[in-house]
Amino acid sequence: MKRNRNVKIVATLGPASSTYEMIRGLHEAGADVFRLNMSHGSHAEIEERHKIIRQVEKDLDSPIAILADLQGPKLRVGEFANGSEELEWGEPFRLDLDKAPGDKSRVCLPHPEIFQALEPGATLLVNDGKIRLRVDDCSPEHAGCTVIAGGTISNRKGVNVPDVILPLAALSDKDRKDLDFVCGLGIDWLALSFVQRPEDVTEARTLAGGRAAILSKIEKPAAVRNFEEILEVSDGIMVARGDLGVELPVQNVPPIQKRLVRRCRSMAKPVIVATQMLESMIESPMPTRAEVSDVSNAIYEGADAIMLSAESAAGQYPVEAVSTMNAVAVEVENDPTYREIIEASRTAKRHTVADGIVAAAREIAETTDIKAICCFTSSGTTAAKVARERPRVPIIAMTSQRGVARRLALTWGTQCVMTGELERFKQAVVNAARAVRAAGLGTETDQIVVTAGVPFNQPGTTNILRVAPCDERLIFRTDPE
Ligand code: PGA
Ligand code: MN
Repeated sequence: MKRNRNVKIVATLGPASSTYEMIRGLHEAGADVFRLNMSHGSHAEIEERHKIIRQVEKDLDSPIAILADLQGPKLRVGEFANGSEELEWGEPFRLDLDKAPGDKSRVCLPHPEIFQALEPGATLLVNDGKIRLRVDDCSPEHAGCTVIAGGTISNRKGVNVPDVILPLAALSDKDRKDLDFVCGLGIDWLALSFVQRPEDVTEARTLAGGRAAILSKIEKPAAVRNFEEILEVSDGIMVARGDLGVELPVQNVPPIQKRLVRRCRSMAKPVIVATQMLESMIESPMPTRAEVSDVSNAIYEGADAIMLSAESAAGQYPVEAVSTMNAVAVEVENDPTYREIIEASRTAKRHTVADGIVAAAREIAETTDIKAICCFTSSGTTAAKVARERPRVPIIAMTSQRGVARRLALTWGTQCVMTGELERFKQAVVNAARAVRAAGLGTETDQIVVTAGVPFNQPGTTNILRVAPCDERLIFRTDPE
């Protein structure tokens, strides 16, 4: 699909967006990546949505990335005899391993490893942080707490333990089953929830066995502390502001978002800003001004992608939510202040030949009248490096690998064109010229920049930069083999 913006849009699918018409409509309205949330929906439903996405991709001949998001080690309380209870400030409340239904004085927390790790003084947060419990005393089987913020607690509500590194396996049994299932269907990105350490990422990578790129969701204080090590071993990052704002004071989230977005860009790894971006559009066709401002800010900061959760998965206006993001993106990216910010925050750290070539490609493209930067990429790395430069001209990633084309749907400004296996550079330049004309970005009298690596089809070899005419007759006449 042709887009007139660079930031990408991720739309979560769910009950409100599970038909062919709706998924196609979301893609046409601007969704570049679809997120399958493994916390909700049966395997049969996930499989059906997956099938529809691939059908839309085929019908519109437009690469789409599928991101499967594993639930991760989410802690939950057990059940209550009355379904729910009101907890009031100052009252004692006990969590233990007793499976008996809970009441006003206690409930089961079926995670023995948590009691092992807790210490008096720690805070437990229940139901998105609405209820706060302070741990006064604890043993390997219980935690005696005082309610320091009251509210309604009900069956199977989530529990966050921000202060403690939990000795939890990064992947639950459910996660392992889900991982195998979605990798079997064929996905492009695998998102990991509640990552705490780099080892959590490498473990999932081993299980995925090359079947998906790995995206770490930053939603724990430990992940913020260990961010550099986690980024190093991840292929992409999500700033998961929902849980992050429960585990940390909400006012800490914006500075973390800004820092993470910049770090990811400097490492040429895609970063998604997620959660509550257009929350009010779950029920209203019109966003709040604050939401529009939040979406804009993520774009001004240089995020690769912005995400919709319940807005597209369970809301009343999924297509309108995508269109709103699209419209905001177009407006921001046409603002001269956006260019100023993006250019001022470009990294100067370049280490490889490819880094130098893509920087030169941008310089040349912005010095003279160049219609596009076409980069041949077999692993996607060179395209990501071009995107890191945030050039003013369109980026066309040329690849023979369908999986690479799909994965790059998450990367800022990158449009992908499939090529056959190439042997000669001249052929590559001709293909690039044709792709630019086919995309309507230039005519035969225009010029483009082409980058490639010879020998072909070897990752990490980018070593050629050519300024070429957009006319293959001229290329055939002038170019060496
Ligand atoms: P979730 O992750 O929607 O899977 O909880 C995103 C977040 O926590 O912000
Ligand atoms: Mn989360």
